[in-house]
Amino acid sequence: MSNLRVRFAPSPTGYLHIGGARTALFNFLLARKQQGTFVLRIEDTDVARSTQESVNAILQAMDWLGMDCDEGPLYQSDRFDLYRQKVDQLLAEGKAYRCYCTADELEKKREDALKEGRKPKYDGTCRERGEVSRDLPCVVRFKAPQGGATTFHDRIKGSISFQNDELDDLIIQRTDGTPTYNFVVVIDDAEMGINLVLRGDDHINNTPRQIMLYEALGYPVPDFAHVPMILGADKSRLSKRHGATSVMAYKDMGYLPEALVNYLVRLGWSHGDQEIFSMKELIELFSLDNVGKSASVFNPEKLLWLNSHYIKTGDPARLSELLAEHLQSEGVDVSTGPALEAIVAALQDRSKTLVEMAQQALCFLCEKVDVDEKAAAKFLVDKNRQPLEALVRTLETWKEWDEKSLDTAFKNVLETNDLKFGKLAQPTRVALMGDTKGPGICLIMQILGREKTIDRLKEAIGRISG
Ligand code: GLU
Repeated sequence: MSNLRVRFAPSPTGYLHIGGARTALFNFLLARKQQGTFVLRIEDTDVARSTQESVNAILQAMDWLGMDCDEGPLYQSDRFDLYRQKVDQLLAEGKAYRCYCTADELEKKREDALKEGRKPKYDGTCRERGEVSRDLPCVVRFKAPQGGATTFHDRIKGSISFQNDELDDLIIQRTDGTPTYNFVVVIDDAEMGINLVLRGDDHINNTPRQIMLYEALGYPVPDFAHVPMILGADKSRLSKRHGATSVMAYKDMGYLPEALVNYLVRLGWSHGDQEIFSMKELIELFSLDNVGKSASVFNPEKLLWLNSHYIKTGDPARLSELLAEHLQSEGVDVSTGPALEAIVAALQDRSKTLVEMAQQALCFLCEKVDVDEKAAAKFLVDKNRQPLEALVRTLETWKEWDEKSLDTAFKNVLETNDLKFGKLAQPTRVALMGDTKGPGICLIMQILGREKTIDRLKEAIGRISG
């Protein structure tokens, strides 16, 4: 075991976002690679916006992607006493002060600053005022060091420096007594022994403030690594406008977790020009050295391509369990009818998602095939009646019912009736599947079984006869 301790710290105000999942994944992979510790911390100090439902949704999505944590989930809402203690500590040490400026006063200061072309910043009225009445509503502000610069070495972006005068005296405790994000994140990361903070680069501006807080609280400063954002095709930040952004929406759309993991890891990280990675390989190969400095663009087609790859190469037994879930959620009874594993094996090469596979599987599972009108008008016509009847006659007495033997039966019918393959294959396919698409005819017959095959052929003949 190494001493690497990383964390994923989602705020439970909604589902697990694609971007959050990528951050979690990078942390998870590093922890696994270095046999360190992956901590999951739920940042629920914003009591009004945090819900148990979101916590559950996040945990479910992490579980689905196969990212198990070593410690947690830990909840910030369980730790308010600790945060209060730390506010008191900073107050007692003169590193924080109570600020009694009202919202109206602050707004006026802001407007004045803007009017005078200055960057709005808290002007330090209460910093200089010293202690006054404790009965008035107040916030607690951190007395940020002035002058000089705060510099850190980002493990992805390199050296980053902020002028301290640019930074406000940060509010660490609101009027209602609740602590703020920048304050609690420092206490938690320090108390939980996190030595690498790996997160989205939307937090880069928070980092110098947090470093000041580490120092004021007497904690060692961890390493930082900020991962560039994920953008949509139009180069704006990835949002619902670009398609689904919730991890679990991809499950519902028939994606496999390994496809999403493989896709997410390549958003920002690369290993030569390799595109396909198993989780095991990722754990071996992942490193911050190969994480790029610039933003990545979300490409739904590539994700779909990866998904079809994993469906094509997946284990039919496992895929049939996942397929069953999709079919059941559509109200399809999968307990009777052909075995799902055989259906999966027949459809793996032709389905990009499990939803697509479920739609195709319906033709095998339904009682009566739903024939496409166009296909019927073209193929279930009088000239094809006799060939179909000949096929039925042969199949009724055919002994073996596997794809290979059925192929012989089919060829026999073609030869004896002097028919070209397409002449019989297309009407047969329409009779069995309702359409001209689908796997090989003999494989379809094998999966459907003798009874269903013959019933469907007879049904089609009946339809032709009117
Ligand atoms: N809770 C923060 C968020 O969801 C993450 C904070 C952090 O990683 O430092 O954006």
